[in-house]
Amino acid sequence: MGLSTAWALLRQGFDVHLLDQAAPPNAAATSVDHHRLIRHAYGAQRGYMRMVDDAYAAWGRLWADLGEVLHIPTGVLALDDTAGDWVRETRAALRADGRAHEDLTAVQVAARFPYLSGEGITDAFFCPAGGVLLAERIVAALARHVVAQGGVIEVARATSLDPARAILTLEGGATRSADVLVVAAGPWIPRLLPEIARRVTPSRQVVVRLEAPSEAWKTAPMLLDLAAGGGFYLVPPVAGTPLKIGDHSFSRLGHPDDDRTPDPVEVERILALARKRIPGIEGFARLGSATCFYDVEPDERFVVEPLGPRAWVMSGFSGHGFKFGAVLGERLAGAIAQPETAARLPAWAAGDEVIPA
Ligand SMILES: Cc1cc2nc3c(=O)[nH]c(=O)nc-3n(C[C@H](O)[C@H](O)[C@H](O)COP(=O)(O)OP(=O)(O)OC[C@H]3O[C@@H](n4cnc5c(N)ncnc54)[C@H](O)[C@@H]3O)c2cc1C
Repeated sequence: MGLSTAWALLRQGFDVHLLDQAAPPNAAATSVDHHRLIRHAYGAQRGYMRMVDDAYAAWGRLWADLGEVLHIPTGVLALDDTAGDWVRETRAALRADGRAHEDLTAVQVAARFPYLSGEGITDAFFCPAGGVLLAERIVAALARHVVAQGGVIEVARATSLDPARAILTLEGGATRSADVLVVAAGPWIPRLLPEIARRVTPSRQVVVRLEAPSEAWKTAPMLLDLAAGGGFYLVPPVAGTPLKIGDHSFSRLGHPDDDRTPDPVEVERILALARKRIPGIEGFARLGSATCFYDVEPDERFVVEPLGPRAWVMSGFSGHGFKFGAVLGERLAGAIAQPETAARLPAWAAGDEVIPA
């Protein structure tokens, strides 16, 4: 979020000074992993579904500046074996906007994606739009680009901030000041902004990386599997990355500076979610597992809000923010450049169907 905002501010002609506690790409940051998914499938959250169009347009502008496209189209396969609403509500939202999607039966799922079992599927659709953002490569390329455009990246840890005066205090006591301060500290934010700590909770999430056993997986769609015993998502092995599975149930546990070694019980819990859908998954070579941190807002609504006239906070991305990084950066830079347009940004970022000017 910080790098995207820096990119967009530089495009608007601002001087930008970025601070990070480690040089980007910082492996501990939420944005730094092989991949992050971008999809219109958003349940009943139509604001975020529509924001994905803006997100793709912003990524297009970023790819043009970076000179490379760091997105692999895969499409989205969504499955349900519960009496839940998510797949049904997503389909209704896609249909209402005339977005391409194809309903599938359990038999059709198993025939078209033979590495999956159709067992228990009660509802499914395939959506051709959507894909994988190569997250770590994006963060690294953005950091290089920001510096090439005259931005400064300083490696230092902020210990406190004064939003009213746009001043940061660093470890060791030095301070940095600016005309405008943007605080985008991912899951570390509660320590910097106690008022946000009441709304945003760090949440330890484990992912498991596997070697896909057949070439067929290389053209697999992203998979969103909603299941009665707990659902999971799967990222296919695109562009030389591993196949990855994880879940979207918030642990709401831990702190990003804690030991991140995944416990075997956590790894087993993730694998168990996928076992029914992916026959033979026990035999897939394990390439490792990792712990990443969400910054969870109770309703999964992003917090992009002013902290007075000279500071903004970007937080509460609740495990679904990466896809919107470029567009949120652009919109916040726009609000900083033209404060008269800023009033509508928080509601739009929170997923309400308000289109900012
Ligand atoms: C397992 C997992 C899967 C996900 N899947 C998806 C997905 O498929 N699609 C999607 O859209 N989103 C997904 N997300 C969410 C997405 O990755 C995040 O919403 C997004 O990356 C958040 O970016 P950020 O810039 O807010 O935080 P970060 O990337 O964490 O950046 C915050 C930066 O602030 C720095 N910092 C923090 N505190 C200080 C300090 N005191 N001083 C100096 N620097 C500091 C950190 O070092 C870090 O570099 C997923 C997240 C996880 C964990």
